[in-house]
Amino acid sequence: MGKIYSSISELAGHTPLLELKGYERELKLQARILAKLEFYNPNQNVKDRIAVHMIEEAERSGRLKKGDTIVDTTSGNTGIGLAAVAASKGYRCRIYMQAGVSSERTKSIEVFGGEVVDQGSIPEVVEAVAAAQGDYFAGVKALVEKVLVKEEHLVFLNQSGNPDNPRTHELTTGPEIWEDTDGEVDYFVAGVGTGGTITGVGRFLKEKKPEIKIIGVQPGPRETEGQPMPKAEEITGIHKYAGVPKEWVPKVLDTSVIDERMDISEEDSVRTARRLALTDGICVGKSSGTALYAATLLAARPENRGKTFVVLLPDSGLRYFSDGLFA
Ligand code: PMP
Repeated sequence: MGKIYSSISELAGHTPLLELKGYERELKLQARILAKLEFYNPNQNVKDRIAVHMIEEAERSGRLKKGDTIVDTTSGNTGIGLAAVAASKGYRCRIYMQAGVSSERTKSIEVFGGEVVDQGSIPEVVEAVAAAQGDYFAGVKALVEKVLVKEEHLVFLNQSGNPDNPRTHELTTGPEIWEDTDGEVDYFVAGVGTGGTITGVGRFLKEKKPEIKIIGVQPGPRETEGQPMPKAEEITGIHKYAGVPKEWVPKVLDTSVIDERMDISEEDSVRTARRLALTDGICVGKSSGTALYAATLLAARPENRGKTFVVLLPDSGLRYFSDGLFA
């Protein structure tokens, strides 16, 4: 029979590129902005890709077996993808969530039978983070070494340290962009969380076209020369990777693929996500606004006239209604 899929794992990826004609027109941009619409994934975000690949690689290596519980730490999207794929393959799933993410995310994990644990409710994690001046990864280390060790049959996928995360993007997202643009792409712009997306796509595209520019976007504000990096504004899914202690930089992020860093404010991110809904009928989350605003600033530079930008928009805006993103 024609084209019938047999599991949600087969539905991850193959997302469309859309030229944001309305947005380009409204802002009088002299460059093309192509949006990689990751809300076309089965759970409406980019993390479905790594959920499938990390789980299937763990199965292949024999690390993940029937009866195991899949575990990870996340600000939400990875947890949704993992819980869904776990459900479809018959595993249990437990997600340790960061504070301050929208209630839609917790609910979405629970819909798939996933268990959600607030990282802030675990004294070992809270103490470790406080002792390390807010270092998130100190909390993850305490979680693994002091909490998860007490149980058997847990498989910690560790998206921030798992090479299968960037590898997913090197195998899927990068090649899709290359094929859909016929190689006519000058810039790739993406927000940085774990760094899996920028590292994998960056590696693939640079291999194909060394002169391409890879832009890593982090939450503002930007530091002033000679001053320490200020605390990052809250933009779900992305974090500061530059100007922070090196322990805070995720292991999977390869900063050598990044040509330029942009620091974008929460206000500009929100304004851009709202604008895009009105110019092109596309409803995306806050970090999509962040990446798109960064691309907009670059596209407005005179030397970038006529250039083609691919901007990765990680998720749907529908999971941000309770956050007031579109209030
Ligand atoms: N935006 C959102 C909404 C996300 O959930 C994530 C993943 N944390 C990102 C951006 C960044 O993606 P990556 O982890 O691949 O850097």
